[in-house]
Amino acid sequence: MNEIRHTDIAIIGSGPAGLTAALYAARAQLHVLVFEGNQPGGQLTITTEVENYPGFENGIMGPELMDIMRKQAQRFGAESIFEHVTEVALDRRPFLIATDRDRRYTADALIVATGASAKMLGVAGETEYMGYGVSACATCDGFFFRNLRVAVIGGGDTAMEEALYLTRFASEVVIIHRREEFRASKIMLDRARSNEKIRWVTSTVVEEFLGETLSTGIRRLTGLQLRNVVTGDIWVEPFDGAFVAIGHKPNTEIFQGALEMDDGGYIVTNCKSTRTSIEGVFACGDVQDHIYRQAITAAGSGCMAAIDATHWLENIRHSAEATA
Ligand code: NDP
Repeated sequence: MNEIRHTDIAIIGSGPAGLTAALYAARAQLHVLVFEGNQPGGQLTITTEVENYPGFENGIMGPELMDIMRKQAQRFGAESIFEHVTEVALDRRPFLIATDRDRRYTADALIVATGASAKMLGVAGETEYMGYGVSACATCDGFFFRNLRVAVIGGGDTAMEEALYLTRFASEVVIIHRREEFRASKIMLDRARSNEKIRWVTSTVVEEFLGETLSTGIRRLTGLQLRNVVTGDIWVEPFDGAFVAIGHKPNTEIFQGALEMDDGGYIVTNCKSTRTSIEGVFACGDVQDHIYRQAITAAGSGCMAAIDATHWLENIRHSAEATA
């Protein structure tokens, strides 16, 4: 059995929220472990240019921004643990954390910054062809669709961003959206609308991802079965790739039943702080925010969580000393 390591503050998640929390907590002279998880750096590591993070006049690439944030936190002593947290026991003190490397850690305070993941449609063929033509990340997989025809499903900013990015590679990008109106911001919509490589199919849903298995045994997406929700028409369109861009869901599975959550599975925090339903557990970033979901708001709430956790630790340690 591996030895159990103890820390003042454990931070689960390494996006802008987690790494900003790490910076503030480490600068407060606390021992900080950051559990980086399966996607070190979080969602920004699978985006391209970030144009709206203050301080970078000409924009900055997402992975580079996260790299800088990590180094800034490490400069003050925060330690990155490249493991994925599989279990957290919040019904004991200190809190107990188990990871996929079969290691265990204890922490006096916990900051949950596990973020959110891409939502999928849940229709036939989607899982079967995931990685074989179906994707939820244009930045990761766009390169494979050079001179090919791809679909982007969704009508928000993510869908516009994915579609625009894919025009660098694909011969044609078809945006498939279930309504006539778009949730995307005007600037993103205008950019997409003025791109000649983008075609629009509205009031339409994907009924099935269709594909074939080649003689080599490899699966391949060949098209989508679509349905117009107004006319009821059903037809098949050939596609080499399909990018699902319909929003995100919070990564809160390991806290089910332990922390209070809303109907969407987002962790409920106190409106004036980052406190959760359990003393000593704080939450920041997209895991508790389904409204703003920006890198800058995540970073801001990461700062708040570190300050809240630091004050809370000071108070309980002070009370413990006073009663000793
Ligand atoms: P949104 O929730 O804004 O949009 C999701 C889109 O997917 C909607 O058009 C929605 O349709 C559609 N959708 C949802 N579920 C389904 C389904 N089951 N079947 C078909 N379509 C579905 O999510 P985003 O990820 O686009 O954006 C999230 C936040 O991040 C926003 O605040 C956005 O502004 C921000 N963002 C900003 C960027 C930037 O500034 N560069 C880039 C990316 C995101 P409907 O409208 O009908 O509900």
